[in-house]
Amino acid sequence: MDLKKHIFDIPDFPSPGIIFRDITPLLQNRETFSYTVDLLAEKIKDLNPTHVVAIESRGFMFGAPLAYKLGLGFVPVRKEGKLPRESISASYDLEYGSNTLEIHTDALKPGDKVVIVDDVLATGGTMKATVELCEKLGAKVEALLFVIELLALEGREKLAGKKVISLVQY
Ligand code: IMP
Repeated sequence: MDLKKHIFDIPDFPSPGIIFRDITPLLQNRETFSYTVDLLAEKIKDLNPTHVVAIESRGFMFGAPLAYKLGLGFVPVRKEGKLPRESISASYDLEYGSNTLEIHTDALKPGDKVVIVDDVLATGGTMKATVELCEKLGAKVEALLFVIELLALEGREKLAGKKVISLVQY
């Protein structure tokens, strides 16, 4: 199945010069959505993780069904101020300003093995901060899973040393 046919290119969104890869057509079609989740599951089946960690908000759309399919726990990494209980945070720089991500302190513990899921790998900053959060809690990060990888931004280099898996590349 050619997933790219179900990912639409939206020029100048959310700002001029950016081509936004829109995954909503892929989600709304039952064949492509289940195919995508099945393919993600296939890629990590030999890693035996204990949890799927996913990044707000589009990472949740793939991470939650993946955890359900594999019978694993699901851990959300959220934007600053959204989690209700004791959390730790990690910040990373954007072109203008910075972003902060958080995880509940009791979400993971030493001995846990996680795969982390997001929709798009761009510069890799979002995923790098999420890896830091998981490792700070003592979990082992087994693989980083993306539906889409934007090769020109070289995010994979920022994630060196980790197993990086993407389903489609641009
Ligand atoms: P990075 O931190 O630069 O790798 O950016 C990755 C984050 O930005 C992910 O959480 C994505 O959801 C989001 N993102 C970046 N580019 C796109 C895009 O073209 N479509 C959808 N999300 C994107």
